[in-house]
Amino acid sequence: MRIPWESFERETLENLRALIRLDTTNPPGNERLAADYLGSALSRDGVELSVIEGAPMRANLIARLAGRDSAKPALMLASHTDVVPVEAARWTRAPFGAEVADGCIWGRGSIDMKAKCAMDLGIATAIRRTGATPERDLIIAAVADEEAGSELGAKFLVENHPELVRAGFVLNETGGFTLFMGERRFYPIQVAEKGFVTVRMTMTAAPGHGSMPRADTAIVWMADLIMRITRTPMRRRLTPLIRESLNELGISPEKAPPLFRPMMANTVTPTIVRAGYKDNVIPGEASVILDGRTLPGEDERSFLRELREIVGPEPALQVIKTGPPAEASPDTPLFRLIKSRTEAADPGSGLTTWMA
Ligand SMILES: [Zn+2]
Repeated sequence: MRIPWESFERETLENLRALIRLDTTNPPGNERLAADYLGSALSRDGVELSVIEGAPMRANLIARLAGRDSAKPALMLASHTDVVPVEAARWTRAPFGAEVADGCIWGRGSIDMKAKCAMDLGIATAIRRTGATPERDLIIAAVADEEAGSELGAKFLVENHPELVRAGFVLNETGGFTLFMGERRFYPIQVAEKGFVTVRMTMTAAPGHGSMPRADTAIVWMADLIMRITRTPMRRRLTPLIRESLNELGISPEKAPPLFRPMMANTVTPTIVRAGYKDNVIPGEASVILDGRTLPGEDERSFLRELREIVGPEPALQVIKTGPPAEASPDTPLFRLIKSRTEAADPGSGLTTWMA
């Protein structure tokens, strides 16, 4: 049976708009809204599914389409249904309005990553409606809590329902944007994810009165360290995977554009600063949250060692949360298939691996 792609495209766009309108800002999440939407759409086409909550309203949807050979490792199409918070006043369009304008759909989560939720839904319904049977089991997973550490989403499922999510291959975010290098187009496929080490750095110094300015206060010290962190690049280190990607793209590591730099070093970014409680008092304490990201091969200890070299021995460093980096080999039948199909669909283009 031929697949009516035009009507699928319309339907998928409408599903995306409906998903954007469901406010699944995490925190608090409320991913149940999206899981129910996807669940009822899949059920209408007779797809078997489970909706499993890691906590009230924090729902994960797992659907399975049986393949010809269920002994083969399954292919999972994975997405997350939560989105990061918005500063609505800074938006020119309603963040949950899903307005269509200038050839785009506008809204929080349109890229990260309700577009793929809608596409995965479209793939599952296309398979059902055409009566096709995939070669191996296909799992559709739309999970909660990715934007806040996955405790109630992917991690919860792996720990509590491994039989539902065991798969040989997973297609998830990201990649998906086209890179232009001179005349050539490259499609990045992310196969590695940096780890994270979130650190609270605290400076303490003598408090005082605002009428008596000093240079040795906790706030001045914090400002100084933030500048130092911003101006001191962390050590460049190329993992074999990134070395090969840069090679393929014809980029020398020394001249890599800014987009590539986070793939060649640990990074650290100040994201929250806290100090002071009264407008005429110099506080005795200032703190800053540092969002650290680690390359494959690094861990909490090696990251803290490197951070210490930048900030010196004095400020207190407290790790708030941490997650390990991950790297998958691109040397798989699935990666080769994606490569050959992409290059056939867009002759002259190339595929490259990516880390985020
Ligand atoms: Zn995402």
